[in-house]
Amino acid sequence: MRLRHIKGAEEEIANSPFVVQDPAAFKGRWCELFGNSNPVHIEIGMGKGRFIMELAGQNPGINYIGIERYSSVLLRGLQKRAGLTLPNIYFIRLDALELSEVFGENEVERIYLNFSDPWPKDRHAKRRLTSERFLAVYDKILQQDGQIEFKTDNRDLFEYSLESIPAAGWQVSWMTFDLHRSEVAASNVMTEYEIKFASEGHPICKLTAMRGMK
Ligand code: SAM
Repeated sequence: MRLRHIKGAEEEIANSPFVVQDPAAFKGRWCELFGNSNPVHIEIGMGKGRFIMELAGQNPGINYIGIERYSSVLLRGLQKRAGLTLPNIYFIRLDALELSEVFGENEVERIYLNFSDPWPKDRHAKRRLTSERFLAVYDKILQQDGQIEFKTDNRDLFEYSLESIPAAGWQVSWMTFDLHRSEVAASNVMTEYEIKFASEGHPICKLTAMRGMK
């Protein structure tokens, strides 16, 4: 998702109490920002943020951080955030490649990747958020027993991920090609893209990945 540049977006983000302006300053001590030592879950490429805000409301015992690289998209999330009273969620404007500058080793318990850009051309494969390059970044910040949860409607990206994840030394611990007709459908929280694609009749794929056995 890349919305047209919105005038004043950077300024609004810079003045928002919901955006962590200098996230690297919290590396290794995110618990101080939240004022507790609850687990930290992050969503990379949160878009307009429906999913992560819904989870934050459902799970007050978990600290959530939504990450989005484009200001114009993050701004939409902030507009939605403004009407909510949630002490357990903040946002960061960041490219996921820089995650290890912002989170310390073992600092993140779960990473959500939802409807990540598919980058269909082979020469762009390393930009996919489930590529070896990004898995190496997640390896630096995720707890040893931490999980990655990945949803997409894009069958090619999903099948690529079913190969790239084990190839990088991780294991796929659970998967479905049709999440909305699976045993976990009732507890599934939908993203903006998921609502759109599901309404068009696209099946939604999901996998959960963990580090492989050493
Ligand atoms: N997760 C949302 C959903 O399911 O509705 C948005 C999906 S949208 C297709 C993908 C989002 O990921 C875009 O907003 C894009 O800017 C963001 N994104 C892509 N690559 C990223 C990266 N390397 N770091 C941070 N955000 C990224």
